Amino acid sequence: MQDHLHGAARGEAGQAYETDVIIVGAGPVGLFAVFELGLLDLRCHLVDVLDRPGGQCAELYPEKPIYDIPALPIVTGQELTDRLMEQIKPFSPIFHLNQMADALERLPDGKFKLRTELGTTITAPILCIAAGGGSFVPRKPKIEGLEAFEGKSVHYAVRKMDRFKDRDIVIAGGGDSALDWVLNLQPLAKSTTLIHRRDDFRAAPHSVAKMRALVAEGKVRLEISDLKGLAGADGALSAVVCETKDKGRYEIPCNELLAFYGLTMKLGPIANFGLNLNENLIPVDTQKFETSEPGIFAIGDINTYPGKLKLILCGFHEAALMAQGAFKIARPGERLVFLYTTSSTDLQKKLGVA
Ligand code: FAD
Repeated sequence: MQDHLHGAARGEAGQAYETDVIIVGAGPVGLFAVFELGLLDLRCHLVDVLDRPGGQCAELYPEKPIYDIPALPIVTGQELTDRLMEQIKPFSPIFHLNQMADALERLPDGKFKLRTELGTTITAPILCIAAGGGSFVPRKPKIEGLEAFEGKSVHYAVRKMDRFKDRDIVIAGGGDSALDWVLNLQPLAKSTTLIHRRDDFRAAPHSVAKMRALVAEGKVRLEISDLKGLAGADGALSAVVCETKDKGRYEIPCNELLAFYGLTMKLGPIANFGLNLNENLIPVDTQKFETSEPGIFAIGDINTYPGKLKLILCGFHEAALMAQGAFKIARPGERLVFLYTTSSTDLQKKLGVA
């Protein structure tokens, strides 16, 4: 698979980690925060429910050009993400992807312990919320009795490819995620069926061409049909029920359904982190971008203050000032010296260019 992390390290699900700053959200603003914090020697772990960094830029408009990033007259959402990943490389952040930041606890020593839905815990003196419009959550198929199969044989993400080894899988959807997983899981699965309601796919043309080649070779079954129901018992799927005008209702035997119907954004568990909220946004000061809770900062689209603009440019500025505030808490008693990257050999050493 494509390395969306550009070689950056992934945390192991279920493990306990300790660091200087936990960043919730690996959108453009969370990524740039790693750079600003890194210049001050603060190490970061990032958590995102998506399977790749880039937030809205990578998920909602990877190929659309952005025209208002300073000094980059035109850059696509994906290119901006890739450049940010390149820029933060010297600071070796650890990414915990595919997992929702679920619960937050303040420990007796004042540090924060963040728990993800996969049981990973990260402890740090600073929490930086860069959660944008909230977490991306999957749009679900409108099928009666769906809940009984969810998490057992109906999935909205692939956490471990091995899970689908030698299984009869049905993938539903017509976008990039659906086609990517058809191409990646087909060699592992016992059988692979792709269901889409029309013979027209939103996914990248080269993925569509590869899928059609696999269909021509008889390695993938393509059904242009509506997904209408599920058959099985105790959460174990035995078939999906499809319907077309010509054929009426019919079943496709399978053990696993992966539905990729796109994502919507919801504030999610952050609403329970004990912070003051204003219409699902987190109010902050404009000196440090700190929230109502000392040590918790909020930057990017998730925060609100008088004059706030939901622009990437503004999030970058907020990240720089947040880092200064975070340093004072994470390194009490240490002096913070203001330095330029152009002239400080100390900063250049950290960047690996001196
Ligand atoms: P996001 O990009 O929203 O990233 C937040 C991340 O946090 C997400 O990946 C989400 O999954 C994750 N997250 C949230 N909660 C949790 C949780 N509990 N656990 C785990 N992960 C979580 N801006 C511009 O400046 N110029 C433009 O031209 C421009 N064009 C745009 C075009 C479109 C179509 C859209 C939709 C937006 C555009 N924007 C533009 C806005 C820009 O994309 C946002 O301002 C920017 O993405 C905000 O970055 P962020 O890092 O704050 O949040």
